[in-house]
Amino acid sequence: MTLYPLFADLRSRAVLVVGGGAVAARKTRALLAAGAYVTVGSPEVPAWLPAQRAHGVLQHRQGRFSADWLDSAWLVVAATGDEAVNRRVAALARERRLFVNVVDDAELSSFHVPAVVDRAPLVIAISSGGAAPALARHVRARIERLLEPSLGALAALAQRWRPRLRARLPEAAARRHFFETAVLGPVAALVRRRRIGEAEAAMARLLRQAPDAATPRGSVVLLGAGPGDPGLLTLAGLRALGNADVILHDRLVSTEVLALARRDARTIEVGKQGGGHQVPQEHIHALLLEHARAGRRVVRLKGGDPFVFGRGGEELEFLRAHGIDYEVIPGITAAIACAAHAGIPLTHREHAQSVRFVTAHCKDSLDTLDWAALAAERQTLAVYMGVSTLPALRDRLLAHGRDVTTPFALIENGTRSEQRIVTGTLADLVERARDHAVAAPAMLILGEVAALARRLHWFGAEPLGTAELPHRHAA
Ligand code: SAH
Repeated sequence: MTLYPLFADLRSRAVLVVGGGAVAARKTRALLAAGAYVTVGSPEVPAWLPAQRAHGVLQHRQGRFSADWLDSAWLVVAATGDEAVNRRVAALARERRLFVNVVDDAELSSFHVPAVVDRAPLVIAISSGGAAPALARHVRARIERLLEPSLGALAALAQRWRPRLRARLPEAAARRHFFETAVLGPVAALVRRRRIGEAEAAMARLLRQAPDAATPRGSVVLLGAGPGDPGLLTLAGLRALGNADVILHDRLVSTEVLALARRDARTIEVGKQGGGHQVPQEHIHALLLEHARAGRRVVRLKGGDPFVFGRGGEELEFLRAHGIDYEVIPGITAAIACAAHAGIPLTHREHAQSVRFVTAHCKDSLDTLDWAALAAERQTLAVYMGVSTLPALRDRLLAHGRDVTTPFALIENGTRSEQRIVTGTLADLVERARDHAVAAPAMLILGEVAALARRLHWFGAEPLGTAELPHRHAA
């Protein structure tokens, strides 16, 4: 069956819904939302009728369906659940050349109601022609995830500007170009940030400047990629990757996440890793500026969250100082993701009332920490970049009174298929890490809650404890 897609203007037009059950209620609600004058026909007055009256013009015809119900209708929906009645409605409607939809009966219907992605005034309708409604719903859900919620506001703005746009750019090709560069670029970015007034102002300015508006304004999205598993990327992050012209990413960002970028996007690794070879921050700044100034949509992609030990703040200061537009999309930070994937609740009514995110990537950074506070009981420490500083960390915590029996869990490659968890107590933290050759990226979670990993872990390999140490301390 090949259907002809159609969007109907039902404002102030009479539509007949035959049936008084839940399906009829759903159809009635959608029709009222489209501005139709709905008449519901059923033997009993449905209980939902009064509530829906508030939403538009709604009448009821009581009784069994009869042909004269069709008299003023433009459109008919049969939702009685009684096949014989539905058939009669369909046959009589057809006789009068009225379009009829019989719910869940493609054969009897002369119009189908599609699955809808609603970004009004932008509406996307999906139909499988009755072949596989479940598939249509599945596609709907996928599209729903792809399209940002602010698209409706952007469509409304475009609608307001349409007359001025046509007057200023009579050529269709020029309009399309303006739309792609200006409207979908800087204007859309402002709408996403819910700054409609500024979006209107930008629209006015860009339209005045057109056709110079041909050089689009570049922008930067500071995006958190999460800890590795692409499933942990946010929906906003996925959309930003789909829009990016250039992606500047850290080494920590997994290949699976990068694979979600647009096929023709340029990816540049600006990897930084504690201790190892680094791209200087100034160089990253220079790249951001270069690509944004060239009018590209740049995504600065960082492992975890960009504002947690990610120098995201410095990059924003720089962009702001240079007048580059930016947005920030958070990511799931390693502490949260590793804890979840190790079965460690970071806080717990019985074991920990607070959690601290700490970084310990070199000796100097260790010296500036408040060790007395860090050594307090009933709190959880999530230590980033700490593998090489474990001995110093242990010594200071013990010196400030943290108990030797305090449990820890080291999570290496958290959320990735290679994830390993090494557990123990503060007393043997350094030895355990060494014996299992724990390497970066790894997260140390230290505190009473860490002991729960042995019972609550659920992802990847079993946690490694003393029992799994074949070659340690033979004596
Ligand atoms: N902005 C990042 C942190 C960058 S610092 C975030 O919010 O997660 C880098 C440190 O994060 C690593 O040294 C390690 O301690 C931790 N880390 C990042 N990804 C990790 C992973 N998949 N598993 C374990 N630790 C990770």
